Amino acid sequence: MDGQICFCGRVEKINCSWTTSNPGRRFIGCEHYGKPGACGYFMWVDTSMCDRARVVIPGLLRSIRRLEAQVRREKEMQMYLVVALITSWILWTCGGLS
Ligand SMILES: [Zn+2]
Repeated sequence: MDGQICFCGRVEKINCSWTTSNPGRRFIGCEHYGKPGACGYFMWVDTSMCDRARVVIPGLLRSIRRLEAQVRREKEMQMYLVVALITSWILWTCGGLS
């Protein structure tokens, strides 16, 4: 499927839709699809999705994004604690906390 050429003459690659109606469904299309002057070339690579997948996949994506945000916050807190620990060691070894 990769390497197809749209009516504008551009080589197209496979993209992935992340809309709620077609989450994760692959397609190829004109790079400028939907913009003025675009050729309008568009074709689904995958078959249509069942209704259950349209509900489950967006829910899973929301869960992943929520967990990724939680991991980012935890890493920030971990970095803060490491800096606080190193600072306290430096102050202690220099006699600042004795
Ligand atoms: Zn085109």
